[in-house]
Amino acid sequence: MSGDRGLSKVDGFVQRDEVVIDGVDISGHWNRMLQPRELTDYSTDTMDWVRALEGGDSLGWCYQCAKCVPVCPVEAVGDYGPRKIVRKVQLGNDLMDDPDLWLCTTCAACLRVCPKVVDMIQIMPAIREQAVLEGKVPAELATAFENMQRQGNPLGDSARKRINWIKGADVEVPIIGKIQRPVDVLWYVSDYTSYHPRGHDAAHAMARVLTALGVDFAILGVEERSDGDSARLAGEPGLFEMLAEKNIEAMNKYEFDRLVVMDPHAYNAFKHHYPALGGDYNVMHYTQFLVPYLDQLKALFQTSVDLNLTFHDPCYLGRHNGEYEAPRKLLEAIPGVSLREMPHYKATGFCCGGGGGGMWLDGLVAEHTSERLSERRVREAVDSGAEALAVCCPYEPSRFEDAVKSTGNDGKLDVADIIELIDRAMQPAGEAAA
Ligand code: SF4
Ligand code: SF4
Repeated sequence: MSGDRGLSKVDGFVQRDEVVIDGVDISGHWNRMLQPRELTDYSTDTMDWVRALEGGDSLGWCYQCAKCVPVCPVEAVGDYGPRKIVRKVQLGNDLMDDPDLWLCTTCAACLRVCPKVVDMIQIMPAIREQAVLEGKVPAELATAFENMQRQGNPLGDSARKRINWIKGADVEVPIIGKIQRPVDVLWYVSDYTSYHPRGHDAAHAMARVLTALGVDFAILGVEERSDGDSARLAGEPGLFEMLAEKNIEAMNKYEFDRLVVMDPHAYNAFKHHYPALGGDYNVMHYTQFLVPYLDQLKALFQTSVDLNLTFHDPCYLGRHNGEYEAPRKLLEAIPGVSLREMPHYKATGFCCGGGGGGMWLDGLVAEHTSERLSERRVREAVDSGAEALAVCCPYEPSRFEDAVKSTGNDGKLDVADIIELIDRAMQPAGEAAA
């Protein structure tokens, strides 16, 4: 049946009778479904609920183009991506009892490519906050929250032990509350650097490098608390604010010019979220801080480290804050380093799985994905032909070393923080630790 304007309705579909484009005949059934579709077979209540949450609105902007799917690291090890989350919510799943709620690492790979700016970095924390309020938190994450609440760090060690690492530094590490004078640099050490045995290596290296450069620095010591950024992204904004207020209260007692952090998550928190709470500092990641000292560092290097290595861009230094060059400038200056890139690098860097609370969700992630993101990343590093994986986030040395073992790559790939490599190159030849 031919209708108005050359349109026909056949088997319930509208089609244009005669269409030729660039010499190609797409008449009839080849151009079906020209009329807009109205989807009326499900309720919009759940989507409306998400969109009404603070930060949740953009979930409704998705038009299912699927650009986000191939870039999502969780999709690489499972069935995921914002597009699929949108469909679940459209179909009435509020995600409160769905493991998918906890798998997003807030890595921002999707946000980088999404034409509609669907912002999972705000959406997921907003829904997670509701789950936390209803007590629907995975047990391992609840433990990390409780540890931060009680001891000011996710590992659960006593707040007093925050400075125990100092003993092995072999240099003096001044504590600002004790020296009672203004300093140039307040060094915010971070949780894993302070408490995790593997993190101590980076802390010791940083103390030695700052000392060798003659930097006037001090740390907060036991007054330091977790920066709280990952707790915020995991759905505990109240805990984040409590931790931030304690850090700000401590820091605002002292005078310093620059705040230097080891942890990209802390960098993100201090840069974007502390100012609104009264903590506005001249903050820099340690790699950014060290670049102006490159000539001095080069004069201090005594040993060639002799490594073919590749570098893992931390999501919260790279994609979230645009810093890709400082770590590479440091690596390229270290004698004996040959840097090669992995297929996922800089803006396309592949998440280690630790962000957005993922650091404390390894059990849940293991149940719902084919492998951990850290394992996928280690495979990529090994395939690149590198002998070592350089990192600059305190979550990563232990995380990637576990993944080296679990993927059967023991002995094939070393993992080292950039500051450890700098420290190694500063040791006299023959004394540098392998
Ligand atoms: S890229 Fe954005 S608009 Fe496209 S499917 Fe993903 S979330 Fe939706
Ligand atoms: S933020 Fe990262 S993990 Fe989360 S949905 Fe987007 S790409 Fe996937």
